[in-house]
Formats: sequence, C-alpha cells, structure tokens
Amino acid sequence: MPLRQLLLILIFIAFGCVNAQEVSIGVLRDYNVNRVTFSHFKKHYSIYADTSYIGTLEDFSYIEVQLNNGRLLLSCNTVSKGSFKKIRLTTRDQGGAIIVTSKSPIVRQRKYEDNFEVKVVSGRMTIVNKVQLPNYLSGVIESEGGGGRAAEYYKVQALMSRTYALKNLKRHKKEGFQLCDGVHCQAYHSMLRFTPEIRTAVNATKGEVLVDENNKIVSTYFSANCGGQVCDASHVWNNSVPYVQSFLDTFCIHTKQAKWTKTIPKSSWRSFLVNEYGYPIQDSVAHSMMYTFEQEQRKAFYIHPSLGIPLRDLRRKFKLKSTFFSVHPQGDNVVLNGRGFGHGVGLCQEGAMKMARSNYSYVQIALFYFTGVKVVKYDQLKL
Ligand SMILES: [Zn+2]
Ligand SMILES: [Zn+2]
Repeated sequence: MPLRQLLLILIFIAFGCVNAQEVSIGVLRDYNVNRVTFSHFKKHYSIYADTSYIGTLEDFSYIEVQLNNGRLLLSCNTVSKGSFKKIRLTTRDQGGAIIVTSKSPIVRQRKYEDNFEVKVVSGRMTIVNKVQLPNYLSGVIESEGGGGRAAEYYKVQALMSRTYALKNLKRHKKEGFQLCDGVHCQAYHSMLRFTPEIRTAVNATKGEVLVDENNKIVSTYFSANCGGQVCDASHVWNNSVPYVQSFLDTFCIHTKQAKWTKTIPKSSWRSFLVNEYGYPIQDSVAHSMMYTFEQEQRKAFYIHPSLGIPLRDLRRKFKLKSTFFSVHPQGDNVVLNGRGFGHGVGLCQEGAMKMARSNYSYVQIALFYFTGVKVVKYDQLKL
C-alpha cells in the first residue's frame, strides 16, 4: 500500500476514534463470571456469534453465554446455538439498552446502554460494554454520587470522570478493553436510574477535561471526605504531584463522614509496630510515647519520620477510614480519633457537594481542589 494512502487511513482512524467517543469498558470485573444472560430492555439489538447473524434480542426472552474450555456456548431461550469465540450484541438506535445478569456467580442485574461484546481473554470470560462516552460518564456519576445532588456537583464529577477516562484509555489494553468497571478505574455499575440532571451535567461539560500548565491531562483523584485538610499525594503514593497540594478545606468539616473513632487493643497496636517496623520498645522514652500521637495537621508518619512507620500502612492494617487520626491510650486499648474518609488526595466529594450547594460553579470547585489547572476542550488539545 502506498505510504500516502496508509497515512490517510491512519488519520481517518484516529480522527474517527476521537469524534465517535466510544469507549470499551470491561464490566462485572469484580467477579469471575462464567455464565451471563442478556435480555431486551430498550430499542432493537442484533445478535452475532463470530460472523453469523443469530437473530434479534427481542426474538428471545433472554440469551445465555457460558464459558466452556476457552469457548463461549451460546443458547437462546435455552436452545443451544453452538460454541463460538465471540458474541456481539449491537444496536444502531440511540438510547438502546439491555439487561445484563451474571448467573455464575449470581450478581444483581444491571442495565447498560449501547453495544456489547463477549470474548475469552487469557481463559477468562470478558464482557465488554462498547459505550458512547457520555453514556459511560452518566453511569459512573450514578455509581459514584447517587441521586439528588446539586447540578454543579454533577458537573464537576462529569469533568473529573471524563478527564480520568481519557487519560487512562490504555489501562486495560492487554485484557481486551480500555477501562474496568471497578474502583481500580471508576465504578460503573450502571442501573440506568440516573436522573435527567446527570445527563444535563454531562452535556453541559461536553468534551471538557482538566489539564496542567503544560496542557497535559491531569490525574484526577478524589475521595469521600478529606477531613478538613486535603492530603499531599506523596503521603499516599511516595511521589508528589504538582497540581495535588495539601491545604485546608473547611467545606467538608461538618458533614457526616467528617469524624470517626476506633478502639484497638494495645497488644495488637504494639505487636504491629514492633514486629513490622522494629519499634524500639526497649527504649524507655520511645516506649512511653508509643500510644500517643497528635495530628493537628496531616502527617505522613506515625510519631516521627525517623521511625519509618507510614500512616498509610496503619490505615491498611487496621482498616481505618483515613490516615488523619490522633491516638491516645485508654486502659488496655488505644483510642483513635480520626477525620475524613478515603485517601484525602484531590477532590473531596463532600466538600465539593457543599461548595455546589453554596453556589460555587463546577470550574471554581475544580480549581479549588487542583492547583494550577485549567478546563479545556479535549479535541482542542494537540495530543
Ligand atoms: Zn481498572
Ligand atoms: Zn474536604
């Protein structure tokens, strides 16, 4: 093929991908699904098995796909159609949606828009929702934020989720899709219950992403509640991120997840510190300080950095809501008084909700939580 022709085709493909804005999402990835059914919900769907046309989804009350020795057994209304490498469900209609139910293991049914493909990748049944980006974002916002939020909150979530998606399109390339539906990427447990307000927010921010001062798409982190101080990224991931700084956030301090307490036996606390980190228990000064720790401002380490005990390790070990806690001895226990819920880096969801209710715009909210960023249209970026 002449080089010029090849180049034109490549440009066409690249241009088409950006414009069509379809993303492929691996769904039900939190489960090792072996058997799944699809049934009609809205509009017209065609079923294909490898290259054969099987019929329309509304012809059957459901179709079932089962993993068997690296192949997919397809049955329609319990009648076997054979074994295949790939099953596709496609619609040409706007607003097409189907019901997906994992039967093994049993998972509550979900409803997804647009197209589906089922294939086997590395021996695992791989269910891929090929979905228009705005429909995917609506499902993510529904999963993350639920219903009844202020419009500007939905808009900032749309901006964050779109930015995340477009930055991470290659994250699951080896597994045969772009993004997964778990918290590893963004929760996408679509039930199609989202209110028109979520759709409106996605459309109102159409094509917008957050970029840093070099016009690079930023990594958008968020957590439920920062406890009153947004956490420096280096406390959680060791490397600092220029647009994710630590600062005080007064918008979230009176919300429901702002405070927590937990009581842990001294013996468990002590053995973790001594066994995992060689805490110098034989030293009388160190011993006396072992159960007392104040954290007015966020810190990265327990008691003193020289002891090398990261708070994030304590959080993981004792399943704490956050690393933003103080510790006091009480009898045979230590009592932890903590603030916030989640890693606390980036956007604080409860703070953002409060800002939205206080009439801040979604751009103001985004610029409050991320330093030195700006909102631009994705298709105007020179990638
Ligand atoms: Zn993922
Ligand atoms: Zn906060």
